[in-house]
Amino acid sequence: MASEPILTRFAPSPTGPLHLGHAYAAWVAHDLAQVAGGRFLLRIEDIDRGRSRVEWELALLSELRWLGIAWVEPVWRQSERLAAYDQALDTLWKMGLLYPCSCNRRDILAALDAPQEGVSMGPDGPVYPGTCRHKPKPKTRPSDAVLRLDMAQAMKGLGPLEFVEDALAEALGENRLEVDQLIEKTGDIVLSRRDMGTSYHLSVVVDDAAQGITLVTRGADLFDATHSHVVLQALLGLPTPRYHHHRLIRDAAGKRLAKRDDARAIATYREAGQTPDDLRVLVGLPPRKS
Ligand code: GLU
Repeated sequence: MASEPILTRFAPSPTGPLHLGHAYAAWVAHDLAQVAGGRFLLRIEDIDRGRSRVEWELALLSELRWLGIAWVEPVWRQSERLAAYDQALDTLWKMGLLYPCSCNRRDILAALDAPQEGVSMGPDGPVYPGTCRHKPKPKTRPSDAVLRLDMAQAMKGLGPLEFVEDALAEALGENRLEVDQLIEKTGDIVLSRRDMGTSYHLSVVVDDAAQGITLVTRGADLFDATHSHVVLQALLGLPTPRYHHHRLIRDAAGKRLAKRDDARAIATYREAGQTPDDLRVLVGLPPRKS
């Protein structure tokens, strides 16, 4: 049987300048597709309308081109995919797996402040204590509320889940997901934010499947989120791709690069006369064969 052609993607959020960490992530996805004779897609993750800016999107497209990264058109924008996320929420709501949550960050921290219980950290911070889970639910899905996945309920129909990690398997830990661990360590993740009509977890899962991505490459900081993504794929009847979580590019002090680290912005290196190959070497990749 012929093996599946590789389809990878780079999925930046246009909320700041593209920096060395992004360049590395884009090259990893791009190069893996290229060596396998596969294809590479670009997806703009702009569901956070408050922080996303068209200027950042235009800048990142221009910098990716300068870096020598070519993608298969069209570029997808998550802000144009809201109907697909809405449909997925509808499916999960009809399965009885979502509930509205009115807790803010302060409520969650206060509920967790029980001295005898240690606070467990999930992919989005402290695991939600479930305060709103048992409140009476409205008949129809509210469109202006935070919606959480009832993880314990969701896992009732699912056995242990697994995914294939291609890259940092040993360093990152468990890729077989036991039901109890998912409930304890991931908890009731947010699938729809009040001002977005979706969340990172939901839209990334829906889009990776809709685009037919076979290999998801991204930073090791998103490894823990992958657990809940695999749950969502099982619930929505979507295929689970392979995963390749790569190391993170850090600054001189060992801190992960953030959008505000303008010193590491690609534009800064470019203006200083560095070449894309100089930057490849800087992040530990071989220069391109010309
Ligand atoms: N949009 C996410 C970010 O910029 C990446 C999501 C992913 O690759 O799954 O961090």
